[in-house]
Amino acid sequence: MRLHHVRQLTSHGLSSPRTVAIAAGGAEDRDATGLILSPGWLDLHAHLRDPGFPEKETLTSGAASAAFGGFTHVVAMANTMPVTDKPDRVRELVARAADLPIRVSVVAAVSIGLEGRQLTDATGMKAAGAVALSDDGRHLLAAETLGRALRAAARAGLPVLIHAQSEHLGNGPDAEATAVAEALRSLAQAPGARLHIQHVSTRAAVDLISAAKRQGFAVTAEVTPHHLALTAGDVASLGPFGNVSPPLRSIDDRAAVREALDQGVIDVIATDHAPHEIAAKAAGANGFHGFETALAVLIGLGLDPAVLYRACVQRPREIIGQSVEDEWILIDPDREWTVDSSSFKSRGKNTPFDGRRVRGRIVMTVCRGQVIVERMLQRV
Ligand SMILES: [Zn+2]
Repeated sequence: MRLHHVRQLTSHGLSSPRTVAIAAGGAEDRDATGLILSPGWLDLHAHLRDPGFPEKETLTSGAASAAFGGFTHVVAMANTMPVTDKPDRVRELVARAADLPIRVSVVAAVSIGLEGRQLTDATGMKAAGAVALSDDGRHLLAAETLGRALRAAARAGLPVLIHAQSEHLGNGPDAEATAVAEALRSLAQAPGARLHIQHVSTRAAVDLISAAKRQGFAVTAEVTPHHLALTAGDVASLGPFGNVSPPLRSIDDRAAVREALDQGVIDVIATDHAPHEIAAKAAGANGFHGFETALAVLIGLGLDPAVLYRACVQRPREIIGQSVEDEWILIDPDREWTVDSSSFKSRGKNTPFDGRRVRGRIVMTVCRGQVIVERMLQRV
């Protein structure tokens, strides 16, 4: 299809309006005045809950939700039931993902059962198709074990993604910095290893990552839309819908992660999409739905378009060694809408943004050369 008068999101920011042909939708011509065309976004941190928790999400519902949010490629974490801790389980997920409308890459566990003791077979995981190793929210790995995991991952050619928290240290702002410092010490003893710090939320952690990058450490970092947009001050009004790990932080912490993102100390924006059914959320479960609100939340923050490109298109793919393949999204940056969790494609309705009037919506998503979301013709 040919898109007329469309601006493109690029590493330099927004282009001027032009005509762009994309390999999808046949020979149609569309007027895309006011719209922005971007390569599909990649979400480096998502919980698709499959297998094991169909009341929260499945590969199918998660993929539909991602597509409507503008993500043509998402990376699924290993804390499923059973845990993705064997190469055969990676293979099975990779095979099931082949039938989805978007691309889903698989993260394998660092340790068997996410229990932090016995390491999984990193080389076998890579051969089965895993793109990274992570124990995600469990992170029970002692420094010595993480060091061995990093060395094994380096031999396999995989990055290790960690939550900077632990069940030993708890979840406070100091615990995040302590966990980052520990992980960086392990990285220093693992030549060739690559460490990615998930959902950085504090100034102290940003400072450590910034210093490590200046010293040439192979460390990358991500921040979530909710840690960029909300603070601890929002928690009171949100009740259980404000529960998330790491928790919403201070205004100063939020300013620090924003600045780090703008400067490239934080490489990536990832949603940590963590769907829960309403009953679990009301009972206090941690985590937010992420896919279908991320784009509007980020547009609302007024991020530099070049930063959006780097954090949502380029860097997440570099970290897991993937490229863009016939993946496009068309964004209407001015379209206003009201977040209504009951309309989400996701089974997870646990958003802290419910009822908010926001701006910025996906009008089309293309993946593998197919138009999989089309809102342009919809009357709204
Ligand atoms: Zn997570």
